[in-house]
Amino acid sequence: LSDKLGGIFDKLKRQGALKESHVNEAMREVRVALLEADVALPVVKDFIASVTKRAVGQEVMKSVSPGQMVVKIVNDHLVEMLGSETVSISLAAAAPVPILMVGLQGSGKTTSAAKIAKRLTEKENKKVMMASLDVYRPAAMEQLKILGEQIGVATLPIIDGQMPVDIAKRAMTAAKLQGFDVVMLDTAGRLHIDQSLMGEVVGVRNAVNPHETLLVVDSLTGQDAVNVAQQFSDQIGITGVVLTRMDGDGRGGAALSMRAVTGQPIKLVGVGEKLEDMEEFHPERVASRILGMGDVVSLVEKAAETIEAEEAEVMIKKMKKGQFDFEDLRSQLRQMKKLGGMSSILGMLPGLGKAQKQMASANINDNLLKRQEAMINSMTPQERSNPKLLNASRKKRIAAGSGVSVQDLNKLIKMQKQMATMMKKMGKGGRGMGMPGQLP
Ligand code: GDP
Ligand code: MG
Repeated sequence: LSDKLGGIFDKLKRQGALKESHVNEAMREVRVALLEADVALPVVKDFIASVTKRAVGQEVMKSVSPGQMVVKIVNDHLVEMLGSETVSISLAAAAPVPILMVGLQGSGKTTSAAKIAKRLTEKENKKVMMASLDVYRPAAMEQLKILGEQIGVATLPIIDGQMPVDIAKRAMTAAKLQGFDVVMLDTAGRLHIDQSLMGEVVGVRNAVNPHETLLVVDSLTGQDAVNVAQQFSDQIGITGVVLTRMDGDGRGGAALSMRAVTGQPIKLVGVGEKLEDMEEFHPERVASRILGMGDVVSLVEKAAETIEAEEAEVMIKKMKKGQFDFEDLRSQLRQMKKLGGMSSILGMLPGLGKAQKQMASANINDNLLKRQEAMINSMTPQERSNPKLLNASRKKRIAAGSGVSVQDLNKLIKMQKQMATMMKKMGKGGRGMGMPGQLP
């Protein structure tokens, strides 16, 4: 597939901005890739529309073909849609925290309940109780009990003849009395959604008011998964998705469908039948699996790294000369996000003490980086290259333009000054700072 894409764009090979016709041509291939990965049709349509809009007009990086560039843009958008950050199960509620597992029969609810219980017990040191609300299949409650014994997690004692809502209430009461932190409620499923299933789950939901309601979806169900998710999402309301059987041959398109339809994050992924076979959701991995063009993506990433390395090189030269204005600070902030932080840039510089490096890399996090970049963006080019221009009225304007306080801006200015001072010092005596014995 990536060959085909490459072919299309070799014809049109030229650097510059991506044209709509180029993008459209590539999107036909992307569409096929998504459908082959079993992403639901309406989701495919929306995705193509939004990523087309984003791609048109974007600059093509040097040493990359337009086709490869499109694939990278598609991939990045896909990762973003899948959820750029990992969202774990929330236990931020009064104990015992009820977690409700819902989904069709055979989707992996019971197994996932046990897997989650095991994780919470082992990784977060929580006291977990599991309760089966599946009163229809005679072996269901027994299944959960056996799983509980395997992982050393308590299960609610079985009482024959009780209805799901009553079992759920009994589980909450018992857990409260016995000091449990979490109660995993495993509901029954049907092969298809029907109203009596929904009614039952709604009853349980109303009785225990779950803190998390996790929709368990078999990643191999493909197109049907959307309908299922929509119904559960509309009628019960879910807080997250658990995607099972990601160890299978499927390309995992259900991940994108689930995210798009429910708007909720995929919290965990089942990757096997064993109870330790559960992982956090990694959007990048799943994106490259869905797209099936991982090699193209890493190629473009490598190209981008090369460009960044070149930029870093320029920066180091400037630093050695002892110059450091807001332009420099901005390109550094941008690189920091990608190059593994300030410390790694400073690490390239000889003769800088460990303490200085630590000082420079302290207090840097993504949000701060974004705000700092916004402040610099609000400056005029003159202000950027000549920080001395920043008087009170200019500061006010910049702070307002970037939505921060003048105080925040002052912190940034202080940072620039400190860096400039540091650079000057290094520029003067840099060579031998770390190793005085070796001065010529
Ligand atoms: P439930 O009806 O939703 O409770 O589904 P179960 O938890 O009983 O799971 C049905 C079957 O799927 C069982 O044989 C599980 O071992 C299997 N299963 C569940 N999750 C996974 C998974 O992530 N990978 C694989 N390969 N099998 C799974
Ligand atoms: Mg079950």
